[in-house]
Amino acid sequence: MSEFDLINQYFKHTSVKRDDVLLGIGDDCAILSPPAGKKLAVSTDTLISGVHFPESTRAEDVGYKSLAVNLSDLAAMGAEPAWVSLAMSLPEADKIWLQGFMQGFNELAEKYNIALIGGDTTQGPLSITINITGFLHSDHVLKRTSAKVGDRICVTGCIGDASIGLNVILNNIDHHLSDQQLTYCKKRLNRPQPRIEAGKLLAPFSLAAIDISDGLLADLKHICKASAVGAILYIDDLPVSEALLRYYSNEPDWQSILTSGDDYELCFTCPDEQFNDVQKVMKLNNIDVFCIGEIKDTSGITCLLNNQPLHLEQTGYNHF
Ligand code: ADP
Ligand code: MG
Repeated sequence: MSEFDLINQYFKHTSVKRDDVLLGIGDDCAILSPPAGKKLAVSTDTLISGVHFPESTRAEDVGYKSLAVNLSDLAAMGAEPAWVSLAMSLPEADKIWLQGFMQGFNELAEKYNIALIGGDTTQGPLSITINITGFLHSDHVLKRTSAKVGDRICVTGCIGDASIGLNVILNNIDHHLSDQQLTYCKKRLNRPQPRIEAGKLLAPFSLAAIDISDGLLADLKHICKASAVGAILYIDDLPVSEALLRYYSNEPDWQSILTSGDDYELCFTCPDEQFNDVQKVMKLNNIDVFCIGEIKDTSGITCLLNNQPLHLEQTGYNHF
């Protein structure tokens, strides 16, 4: 099967069609028609086999996750997804694998009405690079630089589940999870739900936000650095799942939970006077908000557990 047969069979005829794609897959470039007066948000993420997902990950999950982590970046700016391009390096032209990959990919593309507009297909070790573009509907966006002293620090969901899924898969360790709980943790790892709706609802408030990909501590640190502030985290207030409590026999390993990545929840900061409105709009849309800390006029992040400082190595995933 040639590179061009692959493109024709798996990439060219996807189900999402959009009027703003004037020319899609098949020429040297795609031609797009951005909506008048809207700004574009653009992001790229690469996933490498054995680094960003275990080599044993099913093709469907690789396809789903590749798009999900890119969508998560758009969510963190408050953008609405529109177009995506897909560059793949594949060890071989494995039809079954590609079919599975595109099934997972298309599931999310259809959910958010995202058109695949082009890409590149090469032979080499398995790696996927996605470039995604979304629209910003006003000048109000979620930027890392917007945190202010006194803001609450909030997250949209549980932290640490994906790291348990990864631990169990990689280390084959003895765990106390029920089948249902294990499935839940693996799903949190392989099928993260990008918080697109949450991002769009938060954008009008011009808050600071980031998606948690490298671990809450590392990602919150990015907000703190960009906004030149510090933070205090109330560990007791972190939302955690029953599966997590069971896995750690009610004594969570906070170091691991706060520094392992792949949560893909949003972490945002919010001034007190805006919090009621934020909470109201999120509740109306069935999105959880948990307050877990406060922005401070200090440097660094202090973690408190039971009112006692908890010392954690403040690292996150780092490639080099
Ligand atoms: P070129 O030689 O100009 O780079 P290619 O032969 O690589 O073009 O690609 C042919 C067409 O197929 C282009 O429109 C390109 O965007 C598209 N394409 C190639 N690989 C992919 C892919 N993995 N997913 C989506 N579109 C792809
Ligand atoms: Mg090419």
